Amino acid sequence: MSYTQEVLEVVRKRNANEPEFLQAVSEVFESIEPVIARQKKYRDAKILERIVEPERMVVFRVPWQDDQGNFQVNRGFRIQMNSAIGPYKGGLRFHPTVCASILKFLAFEQVFKNSLTTLPMGGGKGGSDFDPKGKSDNEVMRFCQSFMTELFRHVGPDTDVPAGDIGVGGREVGYLFGQYKRLANEFTGVLTGKGLNWGGSLIRPEATGYGCVYFAQEMLATRNDGIQGKVCTVSGSGNAAQYTAEKLIQLGAKVVTMSDSNGFIHDADGLDQEKLEWIKDLKNRRRGRIREYAEKFKATYHEGKRPWGIPCDCAFPCATQNEINGEDAKKLLQNGCILVSEAANMPSDPDAIHQFVAKKILYGPGKAANAGGVATSGLEMCQNSMRLPWTREEVDKRLHHIMVTIHKNAYNTAAEYGQPGNLVVGANIAGFVKVADAMLDQGLV
Ligand code: NDP
Repeated sequence: MSYTQEVLEVVRKRNANEPEFLQAVSEVFESIEPVIARQKKYRDAKILERIVEPERMVVFRVPWQDDQGNFQVNRGFRIQMNSAIGPYKGGLRFHPTVCASILKFLAFEQVFKNSLTTLPMGGGKGGSDFDPKGKSDNEVMRFCQSFMTELFRHVGPDTDVPAGDIGVGGREVGYLFGQYKRLANEFTGVLTGKGLNWGGSLIRPEATGYGCVYFAQEMLATRNDGIQGKVCTVSGSGNAAQYTAEKLIQLGAKVVTMSDSNGFIHDADGLDQEKLEWIKDLKNRRRGRIREYAEKFKATYHEGKRPWGIPCDCAFPCATQNEINGEDAKKLLQNGCILVSEAANMPSDPDAIHQFVAKKILYGPGKAANAGGVATSGLEMCQNSMRLPWTREEVDKRLHHIMVTIHKNAYNTAAEYGQPGNLVVGANIAGFVKVADAMLDQGLV
């Protein structure tokens, strides 16, 4: 049994009830096997055993009161996974499914993703099983204030800088930031994704989606192809999905689907900016359901289904983990899909990934393709430290450059390790080596 497999066995025993975390660790370990085999130093220093253990994990009670005056209690988390190359950085997720397994998988992925961005950021993730859906603004505010009342002692601009994720958008970041400021009595860049007139960066809301499309362009360029005219399926209708769709539309692609957790809409004519603005208003302000799109525009609605059976050239999963399984992957491939670029984290399950890699389609794994979000958070931190805002063009240029660099790094690393074009291997190895070497440099940490 190889060293990697030995460690994986221990991880499986120790974290038997954490399937998502085990899935993320297995994928990374499978990819980095050739590096571990070449480099004895990682084994001698027990780097794998260390890298799978969070440096710190905080779990806390979040009591709050609903509009009827009833007491409610949720569970809050912050996983501080790895600070070898910078302060912990990673989003907060508010969703009923949030638990240690989900957040540990996200934090683990975040470590390698942040390493790929070229910026000095460690990896972390947090959140709560609180469900913002159906809650009033006041309820969300009271919850966020209570959540931050505990979290504030564990975070800080040089310690740990959270951002948004599923269920945490501009509204939630605002309430969280306001409470941090009251408690810490300082105005610092402790959160990213802030509002534009109180320390936020231009392009941060757009960054995950735009970056994911820039990454897709880089993948297509390796085959002398481009995104213009491509039929694209997008899942989700939140932050990542909206700006993936927006950039695709700007670049002349045809976006034919969007979804939420109840189902998906299929608009065979394709979305335009006007229809997309309607979706943004539906989701960000009216907080409605995607089915309403099919009542307003000429489109079909498919309750309880995901969009992967709709024929497309390119697929952009932008909703959640494991939303593309082996069956979905088979359908995508049968229908001639040539590219999958992941704005969501770990949206393809292991069976789907193996099929994409085996068929040699252009496959951009989340930790590379969606790194534009956290990279632009890094740029927000930079602007906060300098107390200088950059223009929209400046941030977009930097985001674009970072996505090009991430692609090049993953592409070249895959080739160096004898698997040309396999960006799963390339991204995992490139992300891992930088963090592992920093850990070695810093001694027994
Ligand atoms: P949002 O909360 O803005 O939107 C999430 C979207 O996904 C909604 O349409 C939601 O539908 C749908 N969704 C959530 N859970 C499920 C589920 N279990 N099944 C089906 N659909 C679901 O979140 P984001 O857009 O920010 O995040 C989407 C993905 O992108 C996540 O994987 C996140 O980790 C990843 N990501 C986000 C970044 C960011 O900067 N925001 C950065 C990097 C990655 P509904 O409203 O019905 O719940």
